[in-house]
Amino acid sequence: MISIDSLREVLELEHKKGYTDKAIIGGLDKYLHKQAGRIRQTLVLSLNEVKTKELIPQLLAIFDELNLANSNYGTCSVDERKRWMASIFDWLGKVEEAKEDTLTSPLPSRERNKIRVTAVAKSQLKRRSPERSEGTSERLDSPITTIKGITPSVANKFAKLGVRTAHDLLYFLPRRYIDYSQRKPVSELKEGEEQTIIATIWQARIATFGNRRGTEAIVGDETGNIRVVWFNQPYLAKKFPTNARVVISGTVSMFKGQKVFQSPEWELLQDKELIHTGRLVPIYPLTQGLYPRQVRKWTKEAIDGWAWQISDFLPSEIKTRCRLLQLPEAITQAHYPDNQQIVEKARERLAFDELFLLQLGVLARKRDWQEGQPGNAFNIDQELISRFLHCLPFTLTQAQERVLQEILTDLKQPKAMSRLLQGEVGSGKTVVATLALLVAVANGYQGALMAPTEVLAEQHFNNICGHLSQASAHPLATAQQSKGTLTYPLPSRERNNVRVYEGFLSQPLTLALLIGSLKDSEKESLHHKIKQGEIDIVIGTHALIQKEVEFSKLGLAVIDEQHRFGVLQRSALRQKGFNPHVLVMTATPIPRTMALTLYGDLDLSVIDELPPGRQEVKTRWLNPQHREKAYAFIHRQVDAGGQTFIIYPLIEESEVLEAKAATTEYERLSREVFPDLKLGLLHGQMNASDKEEIMRRFRGGELDILVSTSVVEVGIDIPKASVMVIDGADRFGLSQLHQFRGRVGRNKEQGYCILIPEKLSPEVKERLKLMERIHNGFALAEEDLKLRGPGEFFGTHQSGLPDLKIAKLSNLRLLELARQEATSLSQSDPDLNKAEHQLLSQQLSQVWSNYVEWS
Ligand code: ADP
Ligand code: MG
Repeated sequence: MISIDSLREVLELEHKKGYTDKAIIGGLDKYLHKQAGRIRQTLVLSLNEVKTKELIPQLLAIFDELNLANSNYGTCSVDERKRWMASIFDWLGKVEEAKEDTLTSPLPSRERNKIRVTAVAKSQLKRRSPERSEGTSERLDSPITTIKGITPSVANKFAKLGVRTAHDLLYFLPRRYIDYSQRKPVSELKEGEEQTIIATIWQARIATFGNRRGTEAIVGDETGNIRVVWFNQPYLAKKFPTNARVVISGTVSMFKGQKVFQSPEWELLQDKELIHTGRLVPIYPLTQGLYPRQVRKWTKEAIDGWAWQISDFLPSEIKTRCRLLQLPEAITQAHYPDNQQIVEKARERLAFDELFLLQLGVLARKRDWQEGQPGNAFNIDQELISRFLHCLPFTLTQAQERVLQEILTDLKQPKAMSRLLQGEVGSGKTVVATLALLVAVANGYQGALMAPTEVLAEQHFNNICGHLSQASAHPLATAQQSKGTLTYPLPSRERNNVRVYEGFLSQPLTLALLIGSLKDSEKESLHHKIKQGEIDIVIGTHALIQKEVEFSKLGLAVIDEQHRFGVLQRSALRQKGFNPHVLVMTATPIPRTMALTLYGDLDLSVIDELPPGRQEVKTRWLNPQHREKAYAFIHRQVDAGGQTFIIYPLIEESEVLEAKAATTEYERLSREVFPDLKLGLLHGQMNASDKEEIMRRFRGGELDILVSTSVVEVGIDIPKASVMVIDGADRFGLSQLHQFRGRVGRNKEQGYCILIPEKLSPEVKERLKLMERIHNGFALAEEDLKLRGPGEFFGTHQSGLPDLKIAKLSNLRLLELARQEATSLSQSDPDLNKAEHQLLSQQLSQVWSNYVEWS
């Protein structure tokens, strides 16, 4: 309470002295600027005892609005000073009143204690503001140019680092810290260690080292003297007056038998807090034109002036339970920590915030979906399911069975399913999804399956039709099953994008393929049929979520390879139905806790077992100079009856350029390397019927080699393919490479994967070696996470989730903690209506504001 009491004393004195700004030496502004943070902290502490908890944020809000740190009292007229002071006294009164609330036992009436910034005080603040000198705007979201010394050109440099406002600067955290806290007497300095001395400058002068000019100083304490040199910084000499006290931090080295500090950090010892020396010194990420010492000065300025203003939105209960620091404290310590332990605590608090808010948002979204409106409870016809399973050329694995049951259980509920199905590449997710789609249709609903590429959509269409033609007694328009394989090539080259099966359900079952490259007339006709309910299951690409597509009764939406879609697209499909069940599938496995955090709006099923007989794909990386070896290997494999993919993922960002690269290579390979073999070319720029034709020929064994861009990355299923060559493997993440690799070795034959980097570096080698060694998608995903960081790995931004700056998804303990807290809070106060959750509610909507569309 000291700070608040002394504030009152100072202000009362000022009042006595007639508002002449004489109460305190140096002026009231300076005093308030320095004390505001402390006052706020004491306030927070003392208010913790208050019974009526909602008073706390209110009192803090008023305090923040009073903006003591940037008071500009000195420039105000006496009248303004009086009015402003009155509003502070008013506030102080309320603080006292609130504190009485702690002591007096009968519950005070809520009304009496409802506190608002009084009309008077508010209008005064408004009237005062034009008087304020330019650039001392008080809000946390003011541009950083508000901070002393930050010019517009410096601000531009900060902008490159994503720092635009004072608030951003507070959250602009050091990458690491140098420990200069070890203070030593000069005589005890040791060579090679990072140490700090406090010494007196005996002499400092410009010196020449070889042909460079720099500064040389002799400094010392009562135990001895030491030479300090700075190369290239002759201007320093002027900054070191003889007899001044200086703090030097750095590594001591030996020169001609003498100890010397070479280009150490330095700081004159004044009454200011040390920021460059003598402590844990923050090292910030920099960009050209920003220098460490400047940045430290500015972050310090920002913290002193603003950190206390940050309102701590986390309910105190949670802070206590999770042993988290107060937010202003955490920010301060994350920049200028007292010691190493507190760094961890500070960062933990900030990381917790990110994860907690992420989780709260995700849970809120789930509630909207599930509780906003009732879902459709399906009947499960076991006989139908067994009939379908019976006709498959294989039996389900145990994992498939289990997951199928999980899904069926969801479908029976009168609330919409929201389930994520994870499964290793080739684990057989499609067939499980197919069953769910059939259940929807049997219940009189429509089903939709959305895939990220046309090639994949067509494959799904053909395979599902193939299964159905086996299961139907009298297929009207059937696909044929090619002997010996489990896939079903189209019977003819003709486009055949609507098919009808009779005899499987009591009514005819109609499937359609809807992709962007259909003719407009075909699309229109499909749109019409979907709207009329004449199509039962529609399989397609993004074309499914165009606004023209309206379903008559969509009951289940399946999204395949969800990592390729943003959340927006997911929810677009969801919105096509009357709260349909949703199943999303992915082959990019992530650890469970992580999945629950990122996709916490989804329940999780995992197929953790491959169909029997699959072998590990033998994987080797190859020096780009030895490409010939790969070609020779392909020749041998083709002779033995295998098929090969060669992937050219040259330019990820541009499908056009990628297509061009693949085309050039295709021509070269056909002419020069494999003139005796049959090659096909596949890329995203081809029209749909050409793509389909190529896939049909490759699947049917007419082609030996498929030269392709990354369009085959997801889902493509060619059982006879045995070799996967990726030329330019360094351009992909491990999970993606694993996806490619999953395209081969799908039957009992041994599969091979050859990785050829475009540029070979030690890091690339390291990564490709991991591919040789690790064959488990989960393990690779974790390695990927470590190597590339979560942002890139999940593309969280693109996937519609707020970015994580501080939190590491690999910190499973904190993830779990944040998840628990978020879950229990969203149960006890789902809409964050309670007064003590107001700040949190604001913070939540701020963080998620860019993502509202899909709530
Ligand atoms: P993914 O999970 O990667 O999407 P798919 O659904 O494409 O995998 O299945 C890969 C291949 O495995 C397909 O050819 C599919 O017919 C086959 N398959 C699926 N389940 C089984 C099973 N239980 N036994 C044998 N083969 C299966
Ligand atoms: Mg798949």
